Order: sequence, then C-alpha cells, then structure tokens
Amino acid sequence: MASQTDTTTTTDEELHYCTVHPDREATLRCNRCGRYMCVQCAVQTPVGYRCRQCVRSQEDKYFNASDRDLILVGIICLVLGGIAGWIVGQTGLWLLLILILGAPIGGAIAEIALRVVQRRRGRYMAQVAAGATAVGALFPLLWILLQAGVFVPRLDVLLFAGIAAVAVYGRMAMRG
Ligand SMILES: [Zn+2]
Ligand SMILES: [Zn+2]
Repeated sequence: MASQTDTTTTTDEELHYCTVHPDREATLRCNRCGRYMCVQCAVQTPVGYRCRQCVRSQEDKYFNASDRDLILVGIICLVLGGIAGWIVGQTGLWLLLILILGAPIGGAIAEIALRVVQRRRGRYMAQVAAGATAVGALFPLLWILLQAGVFVPRLDVLLFAGIAAVAVYGRMAMRG
C-alpha cells in the first residue's frame, strides 16, 4: 500500500481521518468527490477507489427502471418461463437437451424482457426476473399435481427451471 503512488493514496506528510469514522486514519481518498476514507469505507471500482456514497449515486443513475418496468419484466419472465417449462414438461426427460438449451433459453427470455423495457435496469430486476422465470417454469409441476393428484418431482422441469433462472439472472446482472 505504501508503495502506491497514485492520487487515491494520501501522502504520509499529513494525517487524515475517515469522513465516516473520525477515529480511523484515512489512507485513501475517493477519486470522485475527494473525501478521505478508511480501508473499510473504500470501494474498489474499475476506475479506482471510491466512497460508498459515490458508488451508490453512480448506481442510481444506472438503475433507471420504473416500478412499471419491474412488473413488466416479472410478467414477461413468468409467462415465457411458463411456456418454456410447459414445453419441457410435455417433451419428457430429455435431460441432455435441457442441459444444452436451458441457458440459451433463459438468456433469450431475459433479452426479450430487457428489450420490452428498453434496456432500463432496476436494482432488483435480476432477482425479480430470475424468480419469475423459475416460478413460471415450475408451473407445469402444479399442473401435473392437479391432474394426477400426486406430486411428481419431475427432474426435467426442476432442472430446466434452475438453469433458466440462473441464466436469466446472469443476463440481467450483465451490464449492457
Ligand atoms: Zn466519493
Ligand atoms: Zn471509514
């Protein structure tokens, strides 16, 4: 740390204290607002050390989706996940096919949802989308339960729901 010479590290000449923790020595400076901060308060970003407030305000600019967008994404993922899950439920135990196609299908569901909301993002959009996809994809199990009267733990449907939800989360959490 002492060998670092970039502008985010303070010099040894004068002692500074963390803006949040006045009792702690500040060894770093936020490269956006310039405040002094302790190691615990610093967040390492691709562009250097920043304080939590600056990281948060950057995120707020990035997360510009409205509640309506979030609901829309949830509904799209629920419906598309349901359709995909239903197809999987109808075709039977093609586990290899599910392993191969599960992630691309999940990625496609996320992509469609993102296009509908014009690529606006929300802080919890990835979680909502993944949850809705999983619930939708598991819906065929409920259908089977209602028809057969017994719970059938269909590995194909469970596997698909898991893979698709993870893929949706991954695509949504990805920037761009
Ligand atoms: Zn800052
Ligand atoms: Zn601190």
